[in-house]
This record gives sequence, C-alpha cells and structure tokens, in this order.
Amino acid sequence: MELSHIEHIGIAVKSLEDAIPYYENVLGLKCYAIEEVKDQKVRTAFFKVGQTKLELLESTDPEGPIGKFIEKKGEGMHHIAFAVSSLEDRLKEVEKMGVRLIDQQPRKGAEGLDIAFLHPKSTFGVLTELCEDKNK
Ligand code: ZN
Repeated sequence: MELSHIEHIGIAVKSLEDAIPYYENVLGLKCYAIEEVKDQKVRTAFFKVGQTKLELLESTDPEGPIGKFIEKKGEGMHHIAFAVSSLEDRLKEVEKMGVRLIDQQPRKGAEGLDIAFLHPKSTFGVLTELCEDKNK
C-alpha cells in the first residue's frame, strides 16, 4: 500500500451550524463547501489545512451511521481517510491480508471521490477510509 497523504479527518458533530464557527473563528479556517451525502445520511462541511481536509459530519437521520455514532460515543473524531491510487486493487490487497472491509467495492463519497471503509475491528479501533480522486 502506498498512501500519498492524509486526505481528510472525519469529525462527527451534532450541528454544522454550531461547529463551523469554532473552526472558522477559533482555528481560523474557512469552510469552503457544504454538501449532503444522501447515501450516508449526512451533511458535510469541509475545511483545508494544508493538503489535508477536515470533514465535519452532521447526521440527517438518527438511524444513519453518524447518528448512531454520536448516540453511542458523542461528538468527536470519527475516521481518518488516506489518499490512494487504484482503490479497487488496494481493497483486494488489504482483504487478502485479512483486513475486514466495510465496503467491498468503492462507492461515491463527498467531493466526487471514490471511497471505501475498512472495519475498525481490523484497524485497532480507527475507522479507516481509503479514497481515490479519479478527477485528478
Ligand atoms: Zn470521510
């Protein structure tokens, strides 16, 4: 596996409207996009820190993955996303190494990226996303 950089860090929040001012006013970042990912039952807000982004995730449905996460663990760090190339091959590769996959196949995430998640049971508790930007 060759990871080029940390693409983003996903952070679960109860409300984008409440959380965005912290990132803008305290940390001095600029929210450059808000996007709903219906599939994942979330609304996302993006900030850039150098090459890496922060992705705030607000649940649009208490039964969705972020809704359940917040109910169980509260707000906070949700996942780390690494940028890779040839995502499909990478998934096959890590599966062969015994890593449990959440997504057998890449699917569309925010910002048009192809994404897939590895199961935190196989990654020492860190929900891990691999993503590939095919528009590059
Ligand atoms: Zn993500």
